[in-house]
Amino acid sequence: MSSQSLCKQKVYNLERKFNLIIIGAGAAGLTAGIYALRKGLKTLVISSDLGGQASTTVTVENYPGVIGQTGPQIMHNFLSQMISFGGEILYDKVSNISKNENIFLLNVGKVQYEADAVILAFGKTPKELNATGVDVLSTADLSYALVNPSEYKNLQVAIVGGGNSAVQYAIDLAAEAKNVVIINRFDNLKCEKILESKLDDLEYNVKIINKAEIFTIRKLANKIQLDIQMSDINTVLEVDKIIAAIGHLNQTGWLSELVNIDKIGQINIEPDCSTKTSGLFAAGDVTNIIYKQMVIAAAEGAKAAISAVKYIDAQKGLHTPTIDWGSIKK
Ligand SMILES: Cc1cc2nc3c(=O)[nH]c(=O)nc-3n(C[C@H](O)[C@H](O)[C@H](O)COP(=O)(O)OP(=O)(O)OC[C@H]3O[C@@H](n4cnc5c(N)ncnc54)[C@H](O)[C@@H]3O)c2cc1C
Repeated sequence: MSSQSLCKQKVYNLERKFNLIIIGAGAAGLTAGIYALRKGLKTLVISSDLGGQASTTVTVENYPGVIGQTGPQIMHNFLSQMISFGGEILYDKVSNISKNENIFLLNVGKVQYEADAVILAFGKTPKELNATGVDVLSTADLSYALVNPSEYKNLQVAIVGGGNSAVQYAIDLAAEAKNVVIINRFDNLKCEKILESKLDDLEYNVKIINKAEIFTIRKLANKIQLDIQMSDINTVLEVDKIIAAIGHLNQTGWLSELVNIDKIGQINIEPDCSTKTSGLFAAGDVTNIIYKQMVIAAAEGAKAAISAVKYIDAQKGLHTPTIDWGSIKK
């Protein structure tokens, strides 16, 4: 059974009151769920999708202990592990959070959920492509992630961007696509050296256009036509699909009364993942932690969950062990 169908059954009878609600089902949120459930908290994860950024990449080579699995596969394993401890997930978007005395109220559409503590693990949101005519494209024409390279077999693909994600996507697509054009607005690629050298080793079917931007998009019968503005000349390109990998935004403004936000929109946290509102914790890429990586987001999720358990227990005058070892399954 797929993870989504597995979860839908549970959501059918979903209650509204939880010890802990976690927003986001990426590496941080799902790890927080595993830790909280193992400590006995009644926990709900609410997320727009499964896996977050890690589900937008095929190649993950640096998650310790995991070899040869794609990003979506790894995140599916995170979810299965959380569900094995009794976790529940609701696929939806949280639009507001408020605190009334010691209870957090979370709005999801017209429904309100209650929690004793909340973990914000909603990561970063991909920046949308901005070009005239972009609205005519369907989600099949334009995507913000590469999940399944085989869907691009023998197609002509434009990848917009010049950072790690764009270059990784080009590498992953090279063996499948007919050809790949990277449309990069800067003089040079802005990716890690290891990716650049992998790109150099590729076959002839990947081309890079630097100092270039798409300014108009038209949908033809079987192709997508792109007017591309370069520093000295304009050109027209026809492709089958576009992937935009032009960075991510911190969408945290809606929480500015509850948390302190730094100048680039990240939530400021203490070393234990607490924020300025007691009972409200944050973890992973949405915070001001210095490096943005899956293993770090996962570890921060574990920290946030232990802190949330400690907070809830302290409200009841209990002392919480800060380790999580051994089997809790009967
Ligand atoms: C293309 C790409 C490749 C990468 N490759 C690697 C790699 O190889 N190795 C590595 O270590 N790291 C890699 N990273 C970085 C890594 O994926 C992130 O650092 C990590 O996954 C962040 O996890 P997170 O849980 O903090 O946030 P995210 O993964 O961003 O998850 C946030 C979740 O919250 C949900 N959400 C957002 N807003 C709301 C809301 N209001 N209500 C409900 N849900 C919401 C989102 O839908 C998402 O599911 C890569 C990133 C990208 C983009």
